[in-house]
Amino acid sequence: MLPHFHNTLTRQTEPLKLLDPEQKKVRLYTCGPTVYDHAHIGNFRAYLFEDLLQRHLEACGYDVERIMNLTDVDDKTIRGAHAKGITLDAYTRPYKDAFFADCAALRLRPAKAYPEATDPKNIERMIAMIATLIERQHAYQAEDGSVYFRITSFADYGKLAHVDLEAQRPSGRVQSDEYEKEQIADFALWKAWSPEDGDVRWESPWGAGRPGWHIECSAMATRLLGDQIDIHCGGIDNIFPHHEAEIAQCECVTGNSFVRLWMHCAHLMVDGSKMSKSAGNFYTARTLMERGWSGREIRYTLLTVHYRIPLNFTMEGLESSRQALVRIDAWRERLEEFAIADASIKLPEKLGSITLEDFSKALDDDLNISAALAVLFEVIRESNRLLDTAAMTPQEAAATLAWWHRVNSVLALEPEAAQEIPSEVLELLAVRKIARAQQQWAESDRLRDEIAAMGWQIKDTKGEQKVMKK
Ligand code: AMP
Ligand code: ZN
Repeated sequence: MLPHFHNTLTRQTEPLKLLDPEQKKVRLYTCGPTVYDHAHIGNFRAYLFEDLLQRHLEACGYDVERIMNLTDVDDKTIRGAHAKGITLDAYTRPYKDAFFADCAALRLRPAKAYPEATDPKNIERMIAMIATLIERQHAYQAEDGSVYFRITSFADYGKLAHVDLEAQRPSGRVQSDEYEKEQIADFALWKAWSPEDGDVRWESPWGAGRPGWHIECSAMATRLLGDQIDIHCGGIDNIFPHHEAEIAQCECVTGNSFVRLWMHCAHLMVDGSKMSKSAGNFYTARTLMERGWSGREIRYTLLTVHYRIPLNFTMEGLESSRQALVRIDAWRERLEEFAIADASIKLPEKLGSITLEDFSKALDDDLNISAALAVLFEVIRESNRLLDTAAMTPQEAAATLAWWHRVNSVLALEPEAAQEIPSEVLELLAVRKIARAQQQWAESDRLRDEIAAMGWQIKDTKGEQKVMKK
């Protein structure tokens, strides 16, 4: 059965229809951070929902090509660089580095590429797209020198956000990248240089200036993934105007439908309001880590509420994540101690009333994480009960452990020290640990060689297996 996801465009939950179903290839574009400051955990809620999507699709055998952009030129980055009296690059560089460090701490799978808006190849593509839009009468240069997209030239404008242009008279133009849904206006593609921009300027056929935020994403998405892509994600605040504008720009340039499936996550909230920099009600991952919360505790907290339901952030929420992880760790360790190596490991068909495929099926249903976790905790409860009553065989324990490793390739909730090691290696290490406890030395050596073939070297010290990259 194909996975089903909710499409913002149609407001329906639909089977995943790929452009290239034979190859199971998924072209996925995810809007990345504006690097004017540290990303807050509201931003990371969006990135974690995208991570869950990617990991689940990969666990189902899809080949996911994900691109995440870095917005490194916009009003906020320019203002920040100006206030500090440094170049735009010097200003944004530390925030880019911090972003990647936070991604690693929260265990986000790396994207295939992180294109930067200021990369000359991207600027060139933006300028080419704007030129085509002007040529085809979809854009015009106004008396202020800036170039605007003419929204009345695109009949489908409003199809994503479901706004009716006929009913709502367009209200002139906006230069700002972020404006309200009620304000249906021609948006800036190219912003003419002004003295506040300092040395942040590129030459173009319309004079010196810089790109608008929306054209940045359209250019980077189509340059790296092609004119048509399978899935485009972001937070719901991106739907309008940002993603609406992306559709208008791309479809007017390429003549093709831009995105098949639009997925948006609901906000991370604090006391009923969206967590945001401007409201001042935000936490960054690093602040929470300085207060003693681990990356995986933050990950669990942000990941485990369905992506389309607003999530209220509280310290109690972090505390219950900590408890849940303690429970998972204790269960896993218990299985590890009891399990026996068996070359013909087979997953038990059923554990209690649960089939072990249920985890994956739950995520196939629009990433229903609550149902997926219910499967995990039912397996934990049931296997603990079987262990308590001596009703589980060591082979079944090993099979349950193998199942956990598969589940964990999607959840990425292993204890901190084990985090860098791929799940297939962890799985073999767990089997080898058991083999050694049973003094099956030939099996232990065979597994060491198998692990070595995956690029990891084992050192056996004081009954512990230490593993490091070769
Ligand atoms: P920005 O850096 O503001 O462009 O945001 C980067 C990403 O984070 C976008 O996909 C936003 O939709 C998303 N985002 C921003 N604030 C929140 C929030 N409080 N909850 C969930 N996602 C958010
Ligand atoms: Zn974007």
